[in-house]
Amino acid sequence: MSDKVNELKVQNLTKLYTLVLLKSKNAVTGYFILKKLSDDLGKTSSPTYVYQFLKNLEKEGYIEKVENKDSKRSKGYSLTPSGAAFIDRIFSRFDNLIDVAIQSKLKICASCGVKLYTDYHIETIHGKEMNFCCVHCAGAYKTGHDENHKH
Ligand SMILES: [Zn+2]
Repeated sequence: MSDKVNELKVQNLTKLYTLVLLKSKNAVTGYFILKKLSDDLGKTSSPTYVYQFLKNLEKEGYIEKVENKDSKRSKGYSLTPSGAAFIDRIFSRFDNLIDVAIQSKLKICASCGVKLYTDYHIETIHGKEMNFCCVHCAGAYKTGHDENHKH
């Protein structure tokens, strides 16, 4: 059986962010993950859910417990080489999704390249609808455009 078929599913932000955190530090505890989910994303996640995901990752051999010499409590989990490869596979998949989401939603100013979210300026130039952050950028674009394309 191919291990691709049985690959652990990362279908939500809680799991994805858990992977981000595992990649960002040497040892990560469930408590740290829950705190970061809450601090960084404003997400209150079920500890059971996060710990279960960590257990599954450990079962797959993607992470391993880091023992703490000074205390009975473990320092948390650290990534194994196969876990790092797993995360790279997941991230490259999400990269594509993020690219698609950005391309479909995000517009940029045709003049200065700034990202446009709402209330941007649309102007039709040479029959083509173009997006600008402001009228000044539209003006600058038209001036530059006409100078570059003088016949
Ligand atoms: Zn602009």
